[in-house]
Amino acid sequence: GLIMRKKLFAVFGLGRFGGSLVKEFHEMGIEVLAVDKNEEKVNEFAKYATHAVKANAIDENTLKQLGVRNVDHAFVSFGDDIEASILTSLLLKEIGVPKVWAKAQNDHHQKVLDRIDVDRVIHPERDMAKRIAHHIVSDKMIDYIELSNRHSIVEIVATNKIANSTLADLDIRAKYGCNIVGLERNGNIIVSPAAADLVQKGDILIVIGENRDIERFEEEGV
Ligand code: ADP
Repeated sequence: GLIMRKKLFAVFGLGRFGGSLVKEFHEMGIEVLAVDKNEEKVNEFAKYATHAVKANAIDENTLKQLGVRNVDHAFVSFGDDIEASILTSLLLKEIGVPKVWAKAQNDHHQKVLDRIDVDRVIHPERDMAKRIAHHIVSDKMIDYIELSNRHSIVEIVATNKIANSTLADLDIRAKYGCNIVGLERNGNIIVSPAAADLVQKGDILIVIGENRDIERFEEEGV
């Protein structure tokens, strides 16, 4: 049979963000290599990481010695040290780490990270601000995940307007171009609901689509 190797994760920078990642991975039983140039940070996270190493990650030989070649998914979170973040991300990509995600400090930083083919740029403060703003503006929208610049998954509460209609009656895909991929009712999620499923007031519709289609559905359809 096929022997599946456990995925190896690596977190560079054990500050507020990277440190939280390491703790979460630990809770989930995921193997994680934790790296920081600050010895106190390394000591603080040694109990959560599979290996915790003090190293300056901007050096190619150091990265190779750390065995970064075996890492499946790396996270770079160096806070204000934008130069180090760019260099380390670039080196990790060059060494061939399949997935490199980096935390951006600002829009300029994000732009450079996008250019050097980082697989995903994370911008936690901005993303959280967007989510909160969306909650406040819309009384129907409960949550929102950005998939790309143009696409999202949103949770929208079913109002009286659509209660007691089936998904077939609502015909949301044809009318608005977005898809209902789930229905949440009393804390249970129905994944891929059927056309004959009846929507009840208070159900949460989990909708995927282009932002402008979702907005139109939210304004006119629900
Ligand atoms: P963030 O919000 O991204 O978590 P923090 O400022 O809280 O940022 O933490 C950044 C961490 O990254 C610090 O612990 C710092 O020592 C570490 N760091 C910065 N540059 C390097 C580097 N070149 N190599 C290793 N660790 C680094």
